[in-house]
Amino acid sequence: MDFASIVNTVRNRFGKEGFIPLHAPYFGGNEKEYLIECIDSTFVSSVGPFVDRFEKDMCEITGSKFAIAAVNGTAALHMALIIAGVEQNDEVISQALTFVATANAISYIGALPVFLDVDKDTLGLSPNAVLHFLKNETHQNEKNECINSKTGNRIKACVPMHTFGFPMRINELLEICNQYNIVLVEDAAESLGSYVGEKHTGTIGHIAAFSFNGNKTVTSGGGGAIITNNEEWAKRAKYLTTTAKVPHAWDFFHDEIGYNYRMPNINAALACAQLEILPKILENKRETANSYLQELPKVGIHVVAEREGTKANYWLNTIVLDSKDERDAFLKFSNEQGVMTRPIWTLMNRLPAFKDCQTDSLENSIWLEDRVVNLPSSVVK
Ligand SMILES: *Cc1c(COP(=O)(O)O)cnc(C)c1O
Repeated sequence: MDFASIVNTVRNRFGKEGFIPLHAPYFGGNEKEYLIECIDSTFVSSVGPFVDRFEKDMCEITGSKFAIAAVNGTAALHMALIIAGVEQNDEVISQALTFVATANAISYIGALPVFLDVDKDTLGLSPNAVLHFLKNETHQNEKNECINSKTGNRIKACVPMHTFGFPMRINELLEICNQYNIVLVEDAAESLGSYVGEKHTGTIGHIAAFSFNGNKTVTSGGGGAIITNNEEWAKRAKYLTTTAKVPHAWDFFHDEIGYNYRMPNINAALACAQLEILPKILENKRETANSYLQELPKVGIHVVAEREGTKANYWLNTIVLDSKDERDAFLKFSNEQGVMTRPIWTLMNRLPAFKDCQTDSLENSIWLEDRVVNLPSSVVK
């Protein structure tokens, strides 16, 4: 394999000299201005105009009816699962090939993840794998709930993830989830700016979570958002993320256990500035993707591209090498050259906390785990 050509292609885009990070944040808008405005106002904490504006902006960008700000993507996903009605000892179908936060959020409730396979082309949960599992391993109880026949536990929700911003087959999965009475919670943490047809990722399932962590397409330092078209769910999400306080001019009365999960105004100030330049950021990232898609196949490298009918945000550009040995050799070569590259995550079922979770064959997940590498994908200034 021509590793030097890959590194050259990266350097042609990001610069001949110096260290090239995998993904650095880009502050090219009103970030400083809004942060100063926020500090001057004294409203730096969990109440303030930027938080409200952030929620409005998220509705506009995604086309969702409601958006609720959260302290981070993991908290947003945890809350989305609570709102979806997931309870202790329920099971939640997800993918083994994901960032650990997906599985952690499920575990916070005391629910059990079931890890199924992904599609090779989307890197996201495979509707066929889900359907196969549901057909063969579950039955409906008298309340029309989906029950895992092996464990007797209820399967309440399904959490697919749009890996690296490449949209998975969400419409197909929605149909299956609706048929089996399973709530579809999209882990859209990585996919701000990614679309399936005209619909933004996160708006096709019943509820979704986004992340605004420092390594994501746009950042609020730390932050997250829940989106849903369900008004009742949206109200409950706002209420539970703000300590479950019963509204009153001065009384402190909380009628259930709530969470301190609201995004602080100072983070929202940063987020608002970042969302203003999202189109510019996406365009720049697409140019990077196009340069990889154009150059790397010439030296025999498979580059993951958005599927027909979808739009990827190209958060992290992705190549698929021929074997684990080749992957390891390339990771060593590129990182030694100051070009930061990373493998995909260890499959969730190999982590100590999730080693006893139910899985299917995970054939594609295992294949991809050995071969996927992310290339530098920051905005080029
Ligand atoms: C980043 C990420 C999260 C969590 O977001 P944080 O803001 O870091 O808590 C969840 N799921 C996936 C797939 C992610 O990539």
